[in-house]
Amino acid sequence: MALNSTQKKFALAAIKEVRAEHAAYLSDMDDLRKEGYGPSHCFHGTDRWTDYDNICGYCEEGLTLQEMALGRAKHRYSEVERKLHAYVAASNEFGHELTKPLVSEVNRLITRYSSPRI
Ligand SMILES: [Zn+2]
Repeated sequence: MALNSTQKKFALAAIKEVRAEHAAYLSDMDDLRKEGYGPSHCFHGTDRWTDYDNICGYCEEGLTLQEMALGRAKHRYSEVERKLHAYVAASNEFGHELTKPLVSEVNRLITRYSSPRI
């Protein structure tokens, strides 16, 4: 399936975000290593300092940064689509004037997800 321009923007923004988050994670874990500790958690947030063998499904699956980013972009795009559909349905039923704020919300989300949140 070909991506539309909004999906592409969301994907690029999410890739930049995930890369920045990963760099920050590595730096944090490096700081811990310098203090003589092992990693406190995996990149996905699963605690590593437990008495039992903590299993992270994402680590087990070998989820790549790219896959994480695309998952995030896909999730955001469906949120926007869901709200847009709700707006169109409400607009058809109640008229454009009453549902104007919904358009602003959809546009706000598109703007927000089109640039990386770093
Ligand atoms: Zn993990």
